[in-house]
Amino acid sequence: MSAPAVLLEPHAPAPEAPSIDDRVRDVATVAAEHLARHERDATFPVEALDRMRDTGLLGLLVPRTHGGLGGTSADVIRAGTALGRVDMSVAMIFVMHCQQVAALVRFAHPRLRDELLPEIAAGRHYLASVTTESGKGGHLLTSQSALTAGQDGLAVDRFAPIVTGGEHADGFLVTMQSPHATSAQDVSLVYAHRDQLETERSGDWDPLGMRSSHSVALRLTGTVPAHHVIGEHGDFRTIVTTVFAPMAHLGWSACWLGTAAGALSRVVKLLRSPKNRGRADLDSELLLTRLSRARQRIDTVHALLEQTRRTVEAAPDLSVPRVQLLLNGLKITAAEQSYRAVDDLVDAVGMRHGYLKDSPTRLEQSLRDLRSAALNYSNDRLHLVDGKLALLDSEVRLD
Ligand SMILES: Cc1cc2nc3c(=O)[nH]c(=O)nc-3n(C[C@H](O)[C@H](O)[C@H](O)COP(=O)(O)OP(=O)(O)OC[C@H]3O[C@@H](n4cnc5c(N)ncnc54)[C@H](O)[C@@H]3O)c2cc1C
Repeated sequence: MSAPAVLLEPHAPAPEAPSIDDRVRDVATVAAEHLARHERDATFPVEALDRMRDTGLLGLLVPRTHGGLGGTSADVIRAGTALGRVDMSVAMIFVMHCQQVAALVRFAHPRLRDELLPEIAAGRHYLASVTTESGKGGHLLTSQSALTAGQDGLAVDRFAPIVTGGEHADGFLVTMQSPHATSAQDVSLVYAHRDQLETERSGDWDPLGMRSSHSVALRLTGTVPAHHVIGEHGDFRTIVTTVFAPMAHLGWSACWLGTAAGALSRVVKLLRSPKNRGRADLDSELLLTRLSRARQRIDTVHALLEQTRRTVEAAPDLSVPRVQLLLNGLKITAAEQSYRAVDDLVDAVGMRHGYLKDSPTRLEQSLRDLRSAALNYSNDRLHLVDGKLALLDSEVRLD
């Protein structure tokens, strides 16, 4: 018996899912549309976050088994660079979220993973990071506030002086002293849902740069279930060496690289535009040298970023001095050289297109944004760590 004709009709091919790069482009387009207003008002780019939710990009690092895109650190780097070309705040918001997701994927209790990862993949969970604390500054491996273990779970009472996207996050990863800490170094990482916390904001957000990161001060109080501790109690150091620092340094560097590359691209397009013909002397040795320097700095950061990514992907143990030195060196170099590349460009094009807010080069904003890079985990602190690590490697083993 022949099958009914309708069954013989070829199935319409399933619509192809957009690639990760397509999703990133989509978010970048939305970010560009709203950039000027958020920059002026120092407000959070809600439209770009909504697009990250709708495109599934918030689930970039969520494994496919939990409904995510199953992306890699190379994907985070490409996304951070592409978004950084448009808006460094949006780029940092995204890569910092990915850093939190990577920690959950690797270290969360299976029950928490099963609860949370599908929510992130579905775009319902944007995560913020709480590590900085008053009194200890940026020092990552200590905390001054203790978690208290009770019958209902773990009680959180934490002041966080700077939380990117803190008023828009659906959940927070927070460092605190573990319940049985004997010193400030016994640090645990815990996850808290927004609805498990009272969040009280203090002060305004009106910074020099990174204005739309909306990195406000919050007091967080509430209680979370015991299985919300990420990794072992008191062992935040392991999370830092294996996930937090690698993902932060690769991701941040990508954003800064993208910001500098975007700035150079806009300058070159302006210099070569027909409208500009005759206005700038493209044979000026000073101009050519400054463009060359900016490009050299950008290519240097790019090369170091790629080398560090390959090393991180291949290294069986990320805690060894050689790898930690490379990761810290990447962060320091990217922060310094991306900023200096844009500074070179300000000199290259001068007052009108280097210093005024309304220039299409947007150098003025890029420079202010990139000024945060050396502070966002202080380069000085990393140099002290690297000095100690350098002493441990008398052979100076190079990767
Ligand atoms: C745009 C932006 C967004 C941020 N978002 C977040 C966020 O979402 N969550 C979060 O937790 N944090 C966030 N941070 C904070 C960031 O990660 C750093 O921790 C913070 O900027 C450090 O603050 P600080 O410069 O006051 O402190 P410190 O690290 O204490 O540094 C202050 C200065 O003191 C000197 N210094 C002090 N002590 C030492 C020491 N022992 N060794 C060497 N130098 C020392 C350094 O020169 C340094 O420049 C953000 C920062 C920025 C700029």
